[in-house]
Amino acid sequence: MRDNVVRDVAYFLFITLLIGAVVYAVTTFFVFRPLDRMKLAFADMGEGRLAVSLDDAHAAREISRLIERFNSTAAELHTMYDHLEEQVESRTDELRKANAALERQRDTLERLNVELAKETQFKSDLLSMVNHELRTPLTSIITFAQISREACPPDRASERHSWEEIEKNSQILLAMINDMLDIARSDAGSIRTACEPMDLGDIVSSVRGTMTPLAQKYDVAFCTRVASDVPLVNGDFEKTQRMLENLASNAIKFTPDGGTVELRVDVGEGGVRLRMIDDGIGIAPEDHERIFERFFQVDSTSTRKYNGSGLGLALVREYAAVQGFSVSVESELGQGSTFTITIPSDAIVG
Ligand code: ADP
Repeated sequence: MRDNVVRDVAYFLFITLLIGAVVYAVTTFFVFRPLDRMKLAFADMGEGRLAVSLDDAHAAREISRLIERFNSTAAELHTMYDHLEEQVESRTDELRKANAALERQRDTLERLNVELAKETQFKSDLLSMVNHELRTPLTSIITFAQISREACPPDRASERHSWEEIEKNSQILLAMINDMLDIARSDAGSIRTACEPMDLGDIVSSVRGTMTPLAQKYDVAFCTRVASDVPLVNGDFEKTQRMLENLASNAIKFTPDGGTVELRVDVGEGGVRLRMIDDGIGIAPEDHERIFERFFQVDSTSTRKYNGSGLGLALVREYAAVQGFSVSVESELGQGSTFTITIPSDAIVG
């Protein structure tokens, strides 16, 4: 009986070991080894080698499905990656081309800029030179015409009139040349603006001094009125005077014989107002903005009645802008015009 028990136990142990060995071999062959291969394949993919494919010939059914899934995912990833690389490459190429085009455009722009600067400099040099060469003889003509007119005996009316005409037209020419010179200076960026306390009463007196003879020649009454409460303001004396002279000479020019031009200075809404009021030919509303453009003239035909260069108001606006002032116009055709320069309250001294 004892032998029988020992034999049974040994037999049982042998069978158990055999089954264990078979289970181990089968699991290793069909499960563990394919899983190991998958692990290695994952490691390959992690290092960027996406072209991996596993053989599922000796794997268990579930493992075999897993391998199949793995293979298809790896293949998809591989295709996507290839495509991505292609896309990145083509985008990089496009960017490189765009960069090269930009570089070429920048070079062209730089070249054009240099040429433009040269041309602007050349233009303003030429204008300054021409203007200077014209101004000097013209000033002499005006002075000699004045002397000759004053020396003319009262009984020689026609001779006197000739000298007056020479003087008047030379003055007009000189004003035009001055405007051109200032525009050239402004383009070349060489306009300097002073900012110091100025007495508008003084400026108005000087404008009256220069404009009264012109008004007399055109047979227009020119008067000025400065309110007693007008304060000192910060600005550029010369430029403000030029602005008022340009407005006054326009007002006189575009006002028929017997008309009136008034320069009125007072304190109004928004600051100090300098108004040039005339009862001349007026300006249609559609031209109110355009008259401030360079070379714009309402009548620009060669047969026009009024002389001028079309630069006066452009200068007025530029001079106003550099001083922080503003310019506006109110006018109707045939109803006269009012040009207003407004000096803002913050320019008032004190
Ligand atoms: P211009 O040298 O021709 O006077 P401006 O720039 O001073 O040039 O003026 C431009 C245009 O605006 C003038 O040609 C004229 O048509 C119009 N203009 C300017 N001021 C007056 C005014 N007071 N009355 C009528 N028209 C004016």
